Amino acid sequence: MQTLEKANAIVNTIKNNIEKIGRQLRIIEVCGTHTVSIYRNGFHTLFKGYIDFISGPGCPVCVTHEGYIDNLIELAKMNYTIYTFGDLLKVPGKSMSLAEAKAEGAKIKIMYSPVDAAENIAEDEEAIIAAVGFETTVPAFALSLEKVLEKGLKNVKFACELKTIDQPLKVLLKDHIKVDGLILPGHVATILGVDGFRFVEEFKLPSVISGFEKYDILLSLLSLTQSILNNDFTVKNEYKRVVKKEGNTVAKRYIERFFERTDAYFRGLGLIEGGGLRLKSEYSAFSVQLKYEYESLSNSACRCTDVLTGKLKPFECPLFEKVCTPQTPKGACMVSQEGSCNAYFRFGKWK
Ligand code: SF4
Repeated sequence: MQTLEKANAIVNTIKNNIEKIGRQLRIIEVCGTHTVSIYRNGFHTLFKGYIDFISGPGCPVCVTHEGYIDNLIELAKMNYTIYTFGDLLKVPGKSMSLAEAKAEGAKIKIMYSPVDAAENIAEDEEAIIAAVGFETTVPAFALSLEKVLEKGLKNVKFACELKTIDQPLKVLLKDHIKVDGLILPGHVATILGVDGFRFVEEFKLPSVISGFEKYDILLSLLSLTQSILNNDFTVKNEYKRVVKKEGNTVAKRYIERFFERTDAYFRGLGLIEGGGLRLKSEYSAFSVQLKYEYESLSNSACRCTDVLTGKLKPFECPLFEKVCTPQTPKGACMVSQEGSCNAYFRFGKWK
């Protein structure tokens, strides 16, 4: 069978499964990269009336509090050089973004990787590495700290806003959202393995770990609809070429060596017990103390909070497309390439 015929056959089987189930399904894709793939490939229109796709809290930029940005800007004003991933630059803080602070002369540099940053920081530079991300990115920060230790650098610190995926998902599923199934994040599963997502089974919800290509998504939807039909709550793995049962044990050891659990704020979900990672106390000399009020998000018109908890589609936000665009983002969900507002703007045939 040709590729297109195969794809059509899978699509038809998915639709047949859903017709047998007898209702439109609400499926949450946890990871922002999946959101982009779903909208870029037009699955939201292909399965219109069959599947309502809900974007989850797996975009690290989208769930980052604006107070973190304000803290980084304050530190830059104190003459630290801030090393950050580029996607954090346009996130609005209370009064400005890192990009605007940079335009005003603040020393803010884009890093291509945290290891690269640690490699290139000058000895006379007081540097802060902005550590943002889920378990996929954490090993890179662990390697970066290892590099700092190896080089004996005393002028580098980490501003940790690192997140774990299990706790916010538990809170989301318990308190915020009703869904029929989950597409689980392939990137994080590469690190944590299938076993890292066993907790989803306790919610008696079908789930599948998925890759990011269109075929990956289709096969995952096929698996998910079959699981829903069969009341099968076992976590399925449709990303076997990358994800192992036990995950990446080396990366997990690196995380455990340098980091420990802490409470963390998630935009849309609030403060979550054990939802973050901080440097272990023996490495506290390399950690920046951050301070901000959790409940002080300044742009009250931005509905990111509702978008991130599946209560609102991006196009239902009054600012969407009118004043909030990727060029003029009013909230983090529009800034990040993985944000659902950004994905809708670029690929959604929402009308
Ligand atoms: S469209 Fe813009 S303002 Fe509205 S929720 Fe999304 S990011 Fe916030």
